[in-house]
Formats: sequence, structure tokens, C-alpha cells
Amino acid sequence: MSEKDISFRDRPINMDEKGARKWVYAKKPKGKWYTRRTIFSWFVLLFFIGAPFIKINGNPFILLDIAHRKFIIFGAIFWAQDTFILAMLMLSFVIFIVLFTVTFGRIWCGWACPQTIFLEMVFRKIEYLIEGDYKKRYKLDSGPWTTEKGIKKITKHTIFIVISIVMTNTFLLWFMGPEGLFELVKDPISEHFSGFIIMIAISSFFYWVYSFFREQICTMVCPYGRMQGVLLDSKSIVVSYDYKRGEPRGTKQTGDCIDCRQCVSVCPTGIDIRNGIQLECINCTACIDQCNTVMKSVKKPAGLIRFDSEYGIQNGNKSIWSTRNRAYSVVLVIIFSFFVYTLFSRPAIETTILRTPGLLYQQNDDNTISNVYNIKIVNKTHDEMKLDIKLISHDGIISMAGNSMTVKDQNMFESTFLLFIAEENIKSDKTKIEFGIYSNNELIETFKTTFVGP
Ligand code: SF4
Ligand code: SF4
Repeated sequence: MSEKDISFRDRPINMDEKGARKWVYAKKPKGKWYTRRTIFSWFVLLFFIGAPFIKINGNPFILLDIAHRKFIIFGAIFWAQDTFILAMLMLSFVIFIVLFTVTFGRIWCGWACPQTIFLEMVFRKIEYLIEGDYKKRYKLDSGPWTTEKGIKKITKHTIFIVISIVMTNTFLLWFMGPEGLFELVKDPISEHFSGFIIMIAISSFFYWVYSFFREQICTMVCPYGRMQGVLLDSKSIVVSYDYKRGEPRGTKQTGDCIDCRQCVSVCPTGIDIRNGIQLECINCTACIDQCNTVMKSVKKPAGLIRFDSEYGIQNGNKSIWSTRNRAYSVVLVIIFSFFVYTLFSRPAIETTILRTPGLLYQQNDDNTISNVYNIKIVNKTHDEMKLDIKLISHDGIISMAGNSMTVKDQNMFESTFLLFIAEENIKSDKTKIEFGIYSNNELIETFKTTFVGP
């Protein structure tokens, strides 16, 4: 098969006949959609960088503290015990993304995905600034090494490396919080050598992705892009070419498309939107702007490429509602309502009391038997709590290590205690017992466990 006969469906657009990478030299986009996208990206970047610094009542707005199994999302704290609630939140998010994709296609990719935001709005803009637009870049890359080329490449890659390191540290802020990260940075590298290596590895990965791998993340790696095929339907609003208006294409033809290929030259994934909806289209709108400029210059109405659905192009009606997105909306409302209900009805504290592993019981001289327990209490409120523990199922004495059971707001109390029960009250080798946790003499939680005896 000759190169001419090869269709866009036969191999990825950025691959040549030998399977080698064909670099995409995308033209710098310009137009109203690009301006909107740029402004929106500032908010996304601001959120990405600023969110870990925001505090609500002294607590972080966002913190994904995997090490301590503590997640704070929009100020609400989730502990390991709240996995179910967190799962409800994640499920709501996934259904929201599915609903959004069914209705508006891959709009997330072009507008809000960190990969696109950083590539198109940070790295690519720096590249345009240093190396110029697509033609100059192509000339620079294919030309011989000169002093000018060397300076441009060194400057660009040095800036890319610095941004990658800053990105990694910003990313770490989401997991460690500003205090945790500054603490780490203050200490000598030798004290956190493995952490330092991880930071370098992540920075190197970011540098490699944004400098070399680029759009292949969206076209070959990202599973979300692949899901499009099953999620989109004829009513999904996506960046579409109006083939009814545009065809037959060409300057001497009757369709509005003059076949200038400007929409292709501006596409960051290198595709031709006139071939229809494609997996590689990230809905970035660059081709809409470019084609609108062309339409203006040939005095034809804008919108040959626009946000529309297959149904809209066929019938001139942009109805976005289908049975599928109605069904997804209902499921989303149910699951999200359940999440809100479980979030607000969860207990103020969460107690876990377990016998210390490896220890059995002890027979004491005063005719009592004692067991050792580990206790963990998570305070989910925004107030410090002074708590008390009592055995409510039997008569017994609790001897806690340390004096007070005071748990700071959104914090965890951990300790060990001994429970003494008179021998005559122990009827089996495994007695079921129940503890009560009190705050201001009010019983706020109970916990059942066992007491072992002879
Ligand atoms: S930019 Fe518009 S006119 Fe030019 S090829 Fe693309 S669709 Fe046709
Ligand atoms: S086809 Fe258009 S919207 Fe899709 S990725 Fe290319 S330029 Fe962006």
C-alpha cells in the first residue's frame, strides 16, 4: 500500500510508515475559544498551586495524607474508617465524568485536564516564546546545530526542568501540606534521601512527558480517551466539522470548506477533524478558532467547525438530552445524595478497641483478671473533645496509660489500657464486653469486644 492510500484509520497520525514517531508541530492557536481556554486554565493552575495553602478553621482545604490515612477534601476530613463514604464520593465523581462525557464529549481533556493545561498553557507557550511558531520550530529542529539553536534548546530545556521540579513539589503539597513539605525542604537531603530520589524521579518523568512524549499521553496512554468510543452517542456535543455545509470541499467546489488544512496545522494531536469524531481529539477548540479565521477571510459564516453533535448537524437541533444521560443523572443524584447523607450522619467520633495482639490474660493477687487493649479514637468534629471510657457491660476497672483522653479536633487519640474484671464475673474463656465512650458525662459511642479469661 502506498503512503497515499493509507487512511487516518490505518495507523496513528504521529507515526510514520516504519513505526517511528512523527513529531507534531502544531501552529500557535489564536481566537476567542483559545482566549477563553487560557483564562480558564489560569483558574485551574491557581487551584492546583493554591488549594493546599487554603485553610478552613485552621484545617487544610485539601490534603491527601496517605501516610496517615487521612484525606481532607474541600475541608471535610475522611479517615481510614470513612472509606465507604470516600468510595461514595469517588463513585459520584466517576459518574459525573461519565455523564459529562456522554453529554459534552471529551471537554474535560481540552479544558481542565492537568496534562493538557500544563502542556498547552505552560510548556508549549514557553516553547513558542523561545523557538517561535510551528514553521520556525520545524526549521530549527531539522536544521544543523548552530550556536543559536544550542542556546535556544539549552534555555528551553533548563526552564522545562525547573518547571518540572516546581510541579513535582506543588504535587507533593497535595499529599504533605505546606508545613510537611517545608519541614522536609529545611532538613539536609541526607535525612530524606529516598524522598529526594522520588522527587527527582517524578520531576524527570514530568520533564520527559512535557518535553518529548507530549500528546501521546492523550492519544495512546490515557484510558479516559479510550472510553469515549463507548460513552459518546449521536447527541454528545463535541468539536465537530459540519460536513453538510463543508462538503464537497475545495476552492472550486460548492462546499464551504476550502481545504486549506489550517484546522489540521493547529491541532496539537495532529488530526484532521474533517474525518469525524476521533479518539485523538481532545476538544481543545484550536481548530474552531482557526477555521473561523479562515471563514472570515473568505467571507463565509463562522462555525464550519463548532461545538455540535452528529444529531445537531443532521437535524439542526442541539438537544443534549438522551435516555442515557437522563439515566446517568438519576444515578448521580441518588449516589451523591447518599454520600451527603452518610457524610452528615456519621458519628462525631470513631472508636476502635482491640486486645493487644500476642497477649492473653493475667491473673492478679486481688482475684481479678486483666486484659490489655489498644484504643484509637478519631475525633471528626472541629472541636477538641475531652473523653471518658467506662465498661458498661460488667463491673470493671480501666487503667489507661497516660492521664487524659483529650482528642484535638480532626485528630486521633491512641493509647493502651488495662481492664480488670473480678474473677467471679468471668463465666467463659471469651466474655463479650461493651465499652462506653462519654463526653461531658454523655454516652456518645459504644464499642463491643471480648475479654479473655481462664
Ligand atoms: S480550516 Fe476550515 S476551511 Fe480550512 S480545511 Fe479546515 S475546515 Fe476546511
Ligand atoms: S481536532 Fe480540533 S479540537 Fe480536536 S484536538 Fe485537534 S484542534 Fe483540538
